[in-house]
Amino acid sequence: MTVNSCFTRVMSLSEVRAEASPRVGIRERFASRGRAALDALYPPICLACRAATGAHGGLCPACWRAMRFIERPFCDRLGTPFEQDLGEGLLSPQAIADPPVFRRARAVARFEDGPARRLVHRLKYSDRGDLARPLGAWMARAGADVLADSDAVVPVPLHPLRLWKRRFNQAAALAQAMAAESGKPYEPRWLLRVKSTRSQVGLSREQRASNMQGAFRAAPGAPLRGLRIVLVDDVLTSGATANAAARALLRAGAADVDVVVFARVVTGA
Ligand SMILES: [Zn+2]
Repeated sequence: MTVNSCFTRVMSLSEVRAEASPRVGIRERFASRGRAALDALYPPICLACRAATGAHGGLCPACWRAMRFIERPFCDRLGTPFEQDLGEGLLSPQAIADPPVFRRARAVARFEDGPARRLVHRLKYSDRGDLARPLGAWMARAGADVLADSDAVVPVPLHPLRLWKRRFNQAAALAQAMAAESGKPYEPRWLLRVKSTRSQVGLSREQRASNMQGAFRAAPGAPLRGLRIVLVDDVLTSGATANAAARALLRAGAADVDVVVFARVVTGA
């Protein structure tokens, strides 16, 4: 057995732990034996800084402490954290003044500081598949409330030209991992990027919105009518991309669009 096929087999055995079945005891024993073999081959390292750590797919204690996880209380609409808990279902002033096209957004952590930025960068440019699974599992937890009443998980697509250059869409990798974790259907072909947009970096909020205008279209024949969609991206910044993508899905008949990202920029909080 090659190292690679051993790795794949071990990972699939440990995945089985999540399933509730009478055979879970046997599977658990196989999984823990598998994990020991995996540890010998690949000693566990921190996903963010690569320091040696206790378990696969996690952070070292220092990175864990530095992660700015977003937890309740937060704005029910934008998912931005509140300083004080004033009760369930509250909206931030920003969500009331400038409501997004999507219904609700959820994120694992703040993007601006801590290891979240490094994790996103590594997902985009280096480790790729290895990172998508643990990050997607965190997203499934952070987005549990919006996933619970959703029908399908759809990634924000890249323009085909950019996908060809990069060969990897990090939003799709996260969406696939999150869908697997939550048991929801993964539908990467329902939304298309029909306009190649320039980078959003350095653009104002208004410029970002106009840059993204008409960038997305629902795929012809995508059965979106009446469905509640969870849209997935790696980072939420101004919301221009998520709004444009949500608008395309709603135009094609989707009943609702929620957004789950790994990290989000939090301004004014
Ligand atoms: Zn670390």
